[in-house]
Amino acid sequence: MTASLAKAGFGYRRGLADLGNGSFAWVQPDGSWGWSNAGLITDGDQSLLVDTLFDLKLTREMLNAMRDAAPLAATKIGTLVNTHHNGDHCYGNELVHGAEIVASVHAAEEMKHEQPSVLANFMKAAPGLGLTGEYLKHCFGAFEFNGITPMLPTTTFSGHLSRKVGNKAVELIEVGPAHTGGDVLVHVPADRTVFTGDILFVEGTPIMWAGPVGNWIEACERIVALDCETIVPGHGPVTDKRGVRAVQNYLRYIHDEARKRFDAGLSARDAAHDIALGDYDSWGDAERIAVNVATLYREFAGDTSAPNAAELFGVMGEIWKKRRG
Ligand SMILES: [Zn+2]
Repeated sequence: MTASLAKAGFGYRRGLADLGNGSFAWVQPDGSWGWSNAGLITDGDQSLLVDTLFDLKLTREMLNAMRDAAPLAATKIGTLVNTHHNGDHCYGNELVHGAEIVASVHAAEEMKHEQPSVLANFMKAAPGLGLTGEYLKHCFGAFEFNGITPMLPTTTFSGHLSRKVGNKAVELIEVGPAHTGGDVLVHVPADRTVFTGDILFVEGTPIMWAGPVGNWIEACERIVALDCETIVPGHGPVTDKRGVRAVQNYLRYIHDEARKRFDAGLSARDAAHDIALGDYDSWGDAERIAVNVATLYREFAGDTSAPNAAELFGVMGEIWKKRRG
């Protein structure tokens, strides 16, 4: 897969990308672990922020850039939407003072259980964890998890919620469980723009913690059906509908490959090592196949238990090491 999925006219540079009509994306190459994107929708003196970042320093820098670009609207952000509960989309919430914080009911519930202190402790333990520790450092070593005060949503919803930013309608569409239990899309019809959270990883490997995979494939279909031409993924360059189809095709491919190995009696770990990634081999963080296969296997077996993150970081570490040679 060598063709770029970046939307024409957009490079892939760190910082604020002007999407036109008062909307912006904050983009963080290379889109790997924790390097998430966010968005700002403005009209007149009103604004809505889509997601904060993984730590306070990164979030502060983003908010300053947004205030410089849209001083009238971004000095006081009225609404913050968290697309899902992962820390790289909500650990900076405390810096958006006085805003209504909106998330799906499911995402809000999951946020209570993914505290920054858990990651801080994980990182403290990493030096004693061998290869898994080395891999954790590779994934999360660049971020500061100490000193974060989690700010939970003040408004939750299921299904669909509308907000107004000036005269612009903003439509929040729950599509989870897929990447996580509570994934939400943010559609701005007047801008023909969608902020997808981690329903899209562009030119990076999607990671499916929750599933079922059919929900995620359907979520891609819903994005394609929206009237939009600019699509801001949770990670990776600003894209268009080609980026959505690429993620959908990846999910279909790994579903089929995992199913064959499940039926043949391979373990999830062996299947993750065994699957050839073909067209998707050049995408970043290919070792996430370990989480994806484990989630698919639980789905195939009718097992509704939560993923074992500690074990899965171990398997991802093995594949990461093997791929580096
Ligand atoms: Zn993310």
